[in-house]
Amino acid sequence: MGLKENIKYLFSYKLIGESLIKLNTKKSYKNFKPPKNWRTDILAPPLKTGVFTKEIITRHYLEGRYVNGVKPVAWVTSGAPIEILKALGFYILYPENHGALCGARKVALEISEEAEKRGYSIDICSYARTDIGSTLSKKTPVGRLPKPDLLLCCTNICQTVLYWYRVLAEYYKVPLIVIDTPFVYDEAREHDIEYVKKQLEASIEVSERVAGKSLSFSKLKEVVRLSKMAAELWLEIMNANKNKPAPISVFDQFIHMAPIVEKRGDSETVDFYSKMLDEINDRIKNGIGAVKNERKRVLWDNLPIWYKLKFLSEFLAENGVSVVASTYTNAWGELAPMMDIERPIESMARTYIYPILNRGTGHKLKTMETMVKEFELDGAILHSDRSCKPYSVGQMDQRIKLLNELGVAALLLEADHSDPRAFADEQVISRLKAFVEMMD
Ligand code: SF4
Repeated sequence: MGLKENIKYLFSYKLIGESLIKLNTKKSYKNFKPPKNWRTDILAPPLKTGVFTKEIITRHYLEGRYVNGVKPVAWVTSGAPIEILKALGFYILYPENHGALCGARKVALEISEEAEKRGYSIDICSYARTDIGSTLSKKTPVGRLPKPDLLLCCTNICQTVLYWYRVLAEYYKVPLIVIDTPFVYDEAREHDIEYVKKQLEASIEVSERVAGKSLSFSKLKEVVRLSKMAAELWLEIMNANKNKPAPISVFDQFIHMAPIVEKRGDSETVDFYSKMLDEINDRIKNGIGAVKNERKRVLWDNLPIWYKLKFLSEFLAENGVSVVASTYTNAWGELAPMMDIERPIESMARTYIYPILNRGTGHKLKTMETMVKEFELDGAILHSDRSCKPYSVGQMDQRIKLLNELGVAALLLEADHSDPRAFADEQVISRLKAFVEMMD
């Protein structure tokens, strides 16, 4: 770790950047008001505790600018078992989250084209294209991304990540850890869990080598404890929407889920979600719904359409539709009970084999059916995501089942999570109008 880098990190990030961001948050929290273009006629004001989401993520990316040479850096896939790296003091970057941010800031297309120009097909997931485009062109809305010292790729979300991370490993010439998770058709078998556990154990040696220190098991247990606590709070926040009216829309959850993905294992994430839960409970007590005139309640399946969150949220709210449950945001909380602080590695193996994308389509259908009943839903929007094939497979049948067996309106909406070329405003509006009519 270099002296020059340490001084720069302390001065630019710790002393100036972090203090200014915290001061700004304090001011925004104290004088909280909705943004100027917020539709207060149809939506409740944004959650006041949302200012902390912005703070946590801004600090995270600012730290990333100065972290090389100060902390070891790992780039990881979104469903990767990060607890070992966290316990070893790695700064962790999630290229998929960076891709989501590029999508929400509407720069994903320009950055993906940098990859496409170099021969990466438009049919590859737009997160991968955005990340490879950003790596090759250095374009990013966050100033600068830190270079990885280690890559961790877990196949529990898709196989695209395997090829994508091989490209990164080749480009950066750094070690790549692959955690291969057998697909779970029904229940995971004990030897599947053992297979993942052995890979996790084997990953410790290379992670320690890159970090230049040994793993402390007490630190690992602490990280697992904090991860579990944050995931449980997140689950409570989502379950709060079983109340009528629902206090937090799924569009808001898409934004406020960033810390549970990017900063799980940190104590500040636990503090943040417990403050947010308090605010949500206050809303429930006072009968405040995220959508002012909540007439219909629906679920969202698959990834968000990052560049159209406002557009979709406002159109649906204008029609009294509140999106109250989502298989996507749920994925970051549903596995919390599996984490066992006393058996960290084994419970990590169990937890990370079960994400929704590593299970059969029947499991997702069951999750949606449970949501329809527990959240008392009138409909479901199934985002058929051009990029994310593993999430979209089976949606046609799932739509028919929801319609025929549960009697809820179900819409298949074709788009892409961050590539705007797959979205046509007029077509989407006319399909949403028909969907609302069907519910009515
Ligand atoms: S294909 Fe789906 S799961 Fe895989 S990286 Fe893209 S969005 Fe994530």
